[in-house]
Formats: sequence, structure tokens, C-alpha cells
Amino acid sequence: MTGKLFVVGLGPGAEELQTVQAARALEEADDLVGYAPYVARVSERPHQTRHISDNREELARARHALQLAAHGRTVAVVSSGDAGVFAMASAVFEAIESGDAGWRALDVEVVPGISALFAAAARLGAPLGNDFCALSLSDNLKPWERVLDRLLTAARAGFVIALYNAISRARPWQLNAAFAALREVLPAETPVVFARAVSRADEQIVIVDLARAGSQAADMRTLVLIGTISTRRIERSDGGTWLYTPRSVEKSP
Ligand code: SAH
Repeated sequence: MTGKLFVVGLGPGAEELQTVQAARALEEADDLVGYAPYVARVSERPHQTRHISDNREELARARHALQLAAHGRTVAVVSSGDAGVFAMASAVFEAIESGDAGWRALDVEVVPGISALFAAAARLGAPLGNDFCALSLSDNLKPWERVLDRLLTAARAGFVIALYNAISRARPWQLNAAFAALREVLPAETPVVFARAVSRADEQIVIVDLARAGSQAADMRTLVLIGTISTRRIERSDGGTWLYTPRSVEKSP
């Protein structure tokens, strides 16, 4: 008997930013598997078992979910945002690749979600109108030199840059180091956005110049967005600001 494994992106927080497909998968699941704060976002259902694990146990969690599915259960592994963006979907496939051959026969369905990047961009206007990239600033899974090298390469190439995992208690200095490095290659007035807890009750969005950007504006639920030389600010009559990046890029001199 084989079951089914859904890998579900729950969106950035607000229930209305969760897709209909995600809601259907959560409804169907016998078992929910995930990091505690994400599982807590799913309303409890009788007959559904919740398997909660620590954030650092992604591979073990993926294997556990695969074992449940292999025993015939319908399982939903949940992540915030999109499950494929710095989240559980990769761990599931890593576990399949190195695990029980029978897991390759399982019905696995990855359900897309609205990533923090898209939720934040929509709040600002249209900052992703031209080429952009997403980086995880975490050096838990890759060396810091590699993080910095990718960041500076992206900045020099003119990408709008979204930084996920910008700061945590275990990684307090990296974000300020990143800003210091970026100040060497980007103009001082480059817009930097701190989009915190987007779509939640305590959402806060702050735009500053790169010259003034500091890590005190960020926490674990903050996405940091760094504009380009062509990203524009429109001052609104109510004091707010729209940010957009035009579709066309000027020719290099
Ligand atoms: N899979 C998730 C990202 C997980 S990494 C996604 O697609 O959004 C966790 C990081 O995502 C956080 O450190 C933060 O940078 C960002 N993040 C997640 N939810 C957020 C939210 N509601 N507002 C702003 N940033 C968020």
C-alpha cells in the first residue's frame, strides 16, 4: 500500500495568501509534518496527526514523512512561503535520492506557495520588474565567503537582490557585513527595504538608503530587498513610498 506525500507552501502568513490547492492538500492529509510555527498555522482537524520537529532537522523530518507515506498515509509536509524556496521540498528529494528505493514509487506532489519575496514586492509596488535574484544569507549550509561572493557578484551584475534568512540569534553580524560589502560596489542612495512579517498583523515595511542600512531593522521574519541603480522611488501624497524597477535597463556606457 502506498500513500501520498504533499509538500505544501503555506504562503507568507495571511490565510488569504494560501492557495486553494494548498488548502485542499491540508484538508486531505492524515498527517502533518513540519517545524512547529508552521504546523501551528494549520487549523486542527480531528483524525489528523501533527508531527512537530525542530527547525534544524529537515532531513530527518523528510524521511519521517516519506516513511509515513510509504505506509499508506496521506502526508503533508509544510513550509512557509513556497516549499521550494530555502525550505522543505529540497530535503524531501534529497531524502528520496539517498533513501529507500521504494520511495521512488511514491506519489509526491509539490504544492506551490506565495514566497515572502512576492508578498513583499507586492506591498512595495513593482521592485522586481527587471532581473532579480534571491539569496539566503545563512552560512549554516554554505561558507560565508561563498555567500559574500554571490552577493557581490549579483550586485555588480545589476540584479535586484532579495535576502532571505538575513539575521538570527546565531548569525548576528552577517547582515551588517553584507551591507558594508555592498557599500563598496553600489551607490550610497540604493534603496534597501526591510519587509518584516509581511501579511501578518505586525507587518512593518521600512525603506532606507544603503548608506544608512543597518541590521537593527531586521529580525528572523524579515526579507531584505536591495534595489539597483535603476530602481525608482515614487513619494506618495500620504507620505508613503512606492518602489519600482522599470522593465528596460539602460545600455552600459
Ligand atoms: N520558503 C520561505 C522562505 C523560508 S526561509 C518562502 O518562500 O518565503 C525563512 C526566511 O523567509 C525568513 O528569515 C525571512 O527572510 C523570510 N520570510 C518568511 N516569511 C516572511 C514574511 N511573512 N515576511 C517577511 N519575510 C519572511
